[in-house]
Amino acid sequence: KHMADEECDYLFKTVLIGDSAVGKSNLLSRFAKDEFHLDTKPTIGVEFAYRNTKLGDKIIKAQIWDTAGQERYVQINFSSFLSFLHLHILLETTINNIFETDSYRFRAITNSYYRGALGAMLVYDITRNETFENVRKWLQELREFGDPDMVIVLVGNKSDLVDLREVEVEDGQKLAEVEKLCFLETSAKENLNVEDAFLQMITKIYKIAS
Ligand code: GDP
Ligand code: MG
Repeated sequence: KHMADEECDYLFKTVLIGDSAVGKSNLLSRFAKDEFHLDTKPTIGVEFAYRNTKLGDKIIKAQIWDTAGQERYVQINFSSFLSFLHLHILLETTINNIFETDSYRFRAITNSYYRGALGAMLVYDITRNETFENVRKWLQELREFGDPDMVIVLVGNKSDLVDLREVEVEDGQKLAEVEKLCFLETSAKENLNVEDAFLQMITKIYKIAS
């Protein structure tokens, strides 16, 4: 019998966030299907996957949402730019409307992404310092759009790439301490700590929800 067909006692929505190419989609495919892909296409739109986990005598179904990172901003800004070029000639007053429409669309997408989410996995890439710098930006988005009680797990991914490391383990730990988040380094490629990271999130949500 397939896991996804089983009855469950709890259904938890959780989301993956973080810059593009940090490994969100591969963390998800590793956890949900035990798969890793060397060349993955950037995620377009929103995708999700399920996995059931047994905690004590309860079956928890985690519904994990995955979306593009900064691509989301880039796509929307680029369309603003095109509309701008095109319409600037026609009517200057429409410009404001264009920007409002895009910002409205961005907010609508972002809102529905976070709506009802009980947990978030915030991922950075230990080989790219800028993805770690951007963690603060993602925390701001979480504060603006997410539930204040959301369980947040900070994940430094690609721990297998030791020679390329730019972010030290201690940096991740310190930030997690200050922001009161759980923290782990993972490798979706080598399957290190992936299960643990998701299970920590699910277990913590369960403790709050039950
Ligand atoms: P996303 O944009 O955050 O969803 O990132 P992806 O999951 O698409 O991964 C981006 C790239 O990083 C892909 O080429 C993956 O193969 C690679 N990648 C993801 N996780 C790891 C990892 O743990 N180690 C290594 N070495 N590469 C990884
Ligand atoms: Mg992706």
